[in-house]
Amino acid sequence: DIEHDVKILILGSGGVGKSSIIRRYCLNQYIPVYKKTIGVQYNEADIHVQMDGSNYQIKLLLYDAAGQEDFNNVSEQYFRDAQAAILVFSTIDRGSFDSLRRWKRLLDKSCPNIPKVLVQNKVDLIQNSCIKPEEVESLSMEWNMKLYRVSVKDDFNLKNVFQYLSEVFLAG
Ligand code: GDP
Ligand code: MG
Repeated sequence: DIEHDVKILILGSGGVGKSSIIRRYCLNQYIPVYKKTIGVQYNEADIHVQMDGSNYQIKLLLYDAAGQEDFNNVSEQYFRDAQAAILVFSTIDRGSFDSLRRWKRLLDKSCPNIPKVLVQNKVDLIQNSCIKPEEVESLSMEWNMKLYRVSVKDDFNLKNVFQYLSEVFLAG
């Protein structure tokens, strides 16, 4: 097996589910009460990927920055050496969707060439959505970023996000 460490940033407005993504993916836990992240939250998960007949063992290092609501608060240190990134917004938070452009700009400035993916979280609440599906799809096309619609709560489609990023990382 070939082993790699991959540092992945998870970016998006407060409350979209960044900490929940990490907790679900790394520990398979879900906590319904909101606890604001203090400091940088970090966790690891191992993923196994098969590509071109080779087996890869990848350690994903997942980073969630605190104080993310304030763009200016995200430190340079956080972006340093990042190898992939997830831009997250929430199905029930219009503002989190509208903020994506600013997150994207910040990310492109610090990490122009890393694999990136767009994640719409909380699709279990799709009935209460204030974002049209077409808006999301057109942003995904404009940025040429793959879109995953997930529910951390229901553990729906989240693993595919990490599988995809790992494969793009290895291919690049
Ligand atoms: P962060 O500020 O981006 O780290 O957001 P959190 O991970 O702390 O989540 C904010 C709130 O959204 C918490 O109350 C979570 O339980 C809730 N949440 C996270 N994911 C989901 C989801 O898929 N569905 C629903 N309904 N709530 C979620
Ligand atoms: Mg958090």
